Amino acid sequence: MECSEKYREKDKEKYSEANYETDNGKSGKKYGILKRYFGYDQFREGQEKLIDCILAGKDVLGIMPTGAGKSLCYQIPALMMDGITLVISPLISLMKDQVSSLNQAGISAAYLNSSLTVNQYYKALQYASQGRYPIIYVAPERLLTESFLDFALHAQIAMVAVDEAHCVSQWGQDFRPSYLKITEFIEKLPRRPVVSAFTATATKEVRDDIIDLLMLQEPYVKTTGFDRSNLFFEVQSPGNKYETVREYVSNHRTESGIIYCLTRRFVEEVCEKLTKDGFQVTRYHAGLSDAERRSNQDDFIYDRSRIMVATNAFGMGIDKSDVRFVIHYNMPKNMESYYQEAGRAGRDGEPARCILLYSGQDVVTNQMFIDQNRDNQELDPVTRELVQERDRERLKKMTYYCFTHECLRDYILRYFGEYGSNYCGNCSNCLTEFVETDVTREARAIVSCVKSCRQRYGMTVILDTLRGAKTAKLRKYRMDESSCYGICEDVPIYRLRQIFNHLLIENYLTLTNDEYTLVKLTEKSGELLEEDTVLTMKMARERRPEPKKNTEKKKGNTAGTLLDEKDEPLFERLRTLRMQIAREEKVPPYIVFSDRSLVHMCILKPKDKAEMLQVNGVGEHKYSKYGERFLEEINRAV
Ligand code: ADP
Ligand code: MG
Ligand code: ZN
Repeated sequence: MECSEKYREKDKEKYSEANYETDNGKSGKKYGILKRYFGYDQFREGQEKLIDCILAGKDVLGIMPTGAGKSLCYQIPALMMDGITLVISPLISLMKDQVSSLNQAGISAAYLNSSLTVNQYYKALQYASQGRYPIIYVAPERLLTESFLDFALHAQIAMVAVDEAHCVSQWGQDFRPSYLKITEFIEKLPRRPVVSAFTATATKEVRDDIIDLLMLQEPYVKTTGFDRSNLFFEVQSPGNKYETVREYVSNHRTESGIIYCLTRRFVEEVCEKLTKDGFQVTRYHAGLSDAERRSNQDDFIYDRSRIMVATNAFGMGIDKSDVRFVIHYNMPKNMESYYQEAGRAGRDGEPARCILLYSGQDVVTNQMFIDQNRDNQELDPVTRELVQERDRERLKKMTYYCFTHECLRDYILRYFGEYGSNYCGNCSNCLTEFVETDVTREARAIVSCVKSCRQRYGMTVILDTLRGAKTAKLRKYRMDESSCYGICEDVPIYRLRQIFNHLLIENYLTLTNDEYTLVKLTEKSGELLEEDTVLTMKMARERRPEPKKNTEKKKGNTAGTLLDEKDEPLFERLRTLRMQIAREEKVPPYIVFSDRSLVHMCILKPKDKAEMLQVNGVGEHKYSKYGERFLEEINRAV
């Protein structure tokens, strides 16, 4: 162990050399590390206090939304504490990504998980016990293995940082039994290290579970705002979801995005259509082999496929920071899932879009998932009943999100217990003017039609009948002879659909849950047919205007906000250079430099090292690796 101490001493010295001032005049080690290794001048909300507490030897729990910067909260103290920091992380891909980010920044770190061969694993452990790594990522399943324990018991462990800490809770959506082993591991250590935990899940049950199950000792708990102001939220109920998607992606040709679907079948379908239509897409769901999932995920991360079509199996562990849009092809099961998935857009802080495409069928599918209850088979009947009830309640709130006329951001924040302003100006509702509209005639027509066909058909047949469509299906069902045929000829189809959705949500109609989704009447349906009933609903006055200028720009330069049109060629050149370097280094492009850094370079047009170091995300280490190549490219262009 002697030599290991020396290594460590030397390493820590190296990191503490970073003890110099940042641009905003703050000095001190942690600022030095922030600037030198990560290239940032300021801490974001919550980071500094969490770091300070850790350094003071206190346990902490940081609850911050996706993209807020939780990793820095343990990485910076890890470089300053005396001893090794173990980071527990649930997913292999996540560890790999974080470790290569750290290595790119000039920090030695390693991961220990099942993706290593036995030889690699023992080599890494050997280096670890020589103290080469201040930060080691480890899979929870490894903790209690003989070889790892042997290492840990002889090393000086300064901190155990538990990332994605909600995985310890059965209430969370990603419960991992192996997380329960963490405390057992900590108890075996000769000296209890600082324990820090981080998650983006804000509910009280999960928070309490984390504190209890990880046995945090009088932790400092920091919850930062859940608002992600760079995200534009939007809900649509399009008649043809695929068309909507196709149009969107063809208008945003250079952007990276994720399309989430509720089922594998949808994933296959959407992916196939997009491929046929000439887009670079890949797919991800639990039905694919491990190898294919891994390779598709890499294609997306390394920008070889710019669109990922996936079920919710994809995402945790994806730190790709330049995802510009997340489209939900179906409504997910609850707001927690929605915000987590949508939140994978715009982690770099640049404007990004979150679009949810709603249809009534999504509610039915989700209800079916809840009824089947696959996830909770190990629970006892009483608990299972409780969980199901809770899930139905959550689904309801998710559905309301799709129908609210209030600010969408406000709705989300209130769901997570925060109070926003009622107007954000950056969501589809804030940009739409709603008017209270009398829809009695249409509503009555819909209900009459359902009644007259004896509740035997689905929504399409009903609406087509009302519109007087000339389809073979209608002729087959003889709906073209119905008294309702064509009585809403004058109403646009999207409007009829909106009214239909309104009737569902207000329980005037319901959908069945079987192989075919049929429209059925409810106890309330009759009310609509009474003579003096008037039904009104809020409807958009006209087509939605495009969002605020600065939220998006025609080109996919991803940072329309700041980038001048005349700088776009330079931006493209820098992007090409970044791609080239990424290939050489075998890392994803965004790990070399983020889009934001590239945009910042286009604006500043740095001429020398000092100016280059002013660029957001350019630290000493990255400068020494790539700085000059970027300087050259800029000078050549300017
Ligand atoms: P999460 O909270 O989701 O784990 P990450 O730790 O992955 O978020 O950080 C998200 C992004 O924010 C990363 O690209 C990271 O480099 C960046 N980031 C973190 N802290 C800062 C900061 N103080 N200033 C600027 N960018 C930051
Ligand atoms: Mg994280
Ligand atoms: Zn809003």
